[in-house]
Amino acid sequence: MTAASAFAGMRSVAPVMFRAGCPDCRERFELAASALRLAIGASSRTTFYSFTCPRCGAAVRKPAGERIVELLTGGGVRTLRLHSTV
Ligand SMILES: [Zn+2]
Repeated sequence: MTAASAFAGMRSVAPVMFRAGCPDCRERFELAASALRLAIGASSRTTFYSFTCPRCGAAVRKPAGERIVELLTGGGVRTLRLHSTV
């Protein structure tokens, strides 16, 4: 048994962190995927991500471009699709 083998199992569970900023208190912080929500609308104007500022508690909503959507969904952020497929 080596120290290396003990650490090998821990690598994959490292959570993905996303850098974000609060427009209210101007605090910058990192959020886990579970702290973020992504809402995908029919157009880019209705696609946004939201989170609650851990500092001041403000509900922050920001537009999400194509790259951000890719980043967030790839990181395991909960996604809500707003447009119906009817
Ligand atoms: Zn804040």
